[in-house]
Amino acid sequence: MLVATVDDERREIPGGWVAVRGTHIAGVGPPGLEPRAARVLRADDCLVTPGLINTHHHIYQNLTRAYRPATNSNLFGWLSALYPVWSRLDEEAAYVSAWVGLAELALGGCTTTTDHLYVHPRGGGDLISAEIRAAAELGMRFHPTRGSMSRSQKDGGLPPDAVVQDDDEILADSERLVRLHHDATPGAMVRIALAPCSPFSVTPRLMEATAELAERLDVRLHTHLAEDEDEDRYCLEVYGRRPLEQFEAVGWAGPRAWVAHCIRPNPDEIARMGGWGTGVAHCPSSNLILGGGLAPVHELRWAGVPVGVGCDGSASADSASLWMEARNAMLLGKLRHGAAAMGARDALEMATRAGAACLGREGELGALAVGAVADLVCWPLEGVAFAGALSDPVEAWLRCGPVAARHTVVAGRAVVEDGELAHPGVDDMLRRHRAIATAWQR
Ligand SMILES: [Zn+2]
Repeated sequence: MLVATVDDERREIPGGWVAVRGTHIAGVGPPGLEPRAARVLRADDCLVTPGLINTHHHIYQNLTRAYRPATNSNLFGWLSALYPVWSRLDEEAAYVSAWVGLAELALGGCTTTTDHLYVHPRGGGDLISAEIRAAAELGMRFHPTRGSMSRSQKDGGLPPDAVVQDDDEILADSERLVRLHHDATPGAMVRIALAPCSPFSVTPRLMEATAELAERLDVRLHTHLAEDEDEDRYCLEVYGRRPLEQFEAVGWAGPRAWVAHCIRPNPDEIARMGGWGTGVAHCPSSNLILGGGLAPVHELRWAGVPVGVGCDGSASADSASLWMEARNAMLLGKLRHGAAAMGARDALEMATRAGAACLGREGELGALAVGAVADLVCWPLEGVAFAGALSDPVEAWLRCGPVAARHTVVAGRAVVEDGELAHPGVDDMLRRHRAIATAWQR
């Protein structure tokens, strides 16, 4: 058993323990010095890590996983096939898909997740409040982002008219959601960020106005950026600039923003990003499945960019396991720059500390240290999959497996215990999920 703290000294403590008081960590230490506890959660044969942080997702898309008409498409083709199906999203679908998606993440060792919900069909209701309800029921730490699309096909964008809104409506609803749900205090369970979808689905005016609003409300900014070749072409044709130049031109370049994918920045743009302090959500499975290419993760990290990991929408990556994203990040790092270029510790760091930095919560999330929130995972390194892995539990964690969480603790509370969701409602929720998915895909 090993506690991998990912703290400032990157301490790894064989036989260690983590003491929790209320919602925060009160102590971390070596065997023999355990404080007396009212309740003990055992982690025999486990690797204990900070809870993993998911920096990019579109949870509602789990209603269209592995959807046959879109399975072999690139980004633009995939989106065009799915926009009409997603236009049926309403509060019930947002709530049920979030519940199931958050449960999947928790079972896979995730304790904090973002969500980028950018489809707000007319008459669909308050979708983000519905998701927040699901997160509160399960006890997950949640950073939903108010996504938006304002540039439809009639204005030269990609999405159909039915799923876009006008700029003023988007800005007003963004402000409403921040005022209703955003908790700026340390240890917050819910924070809102603002998230126009991409350069090809919103207007430059909305990007600028959103950056101004985020500044005024002191919330973070999120969007897709530099995801594939079609986007490069689109930006050059429509704006006369590359995607990162356009991002800078609309006032987004700075530490308030983190962006998803970032597969195609050139060396000069990577250096500039390091200076801005803009974070990146690396989504390895999604990049692989959409054939988008290999993100320059190594170069971005060297430039000082915080690079977290994200599972991306369930309809492109189809699975939402942060363990798998961390493993894929490690494998792709080795593929690009050789076996020594990225190990399990780098991937763990990306999935914890760097993810916290993307969300502006360094020191508070993503490390097992006194004063940090009590978000942690016990990974059972046992059974046939781990037989013989004796010398390095951190490397074994990502090189062997697959593995899911034995316990997932969020704010001092076990959301997953002994491999089972603590909330009893999963079967009922899966029935509701199936009913909606069946209706959508008919
Ligand atoms: Zn995405």
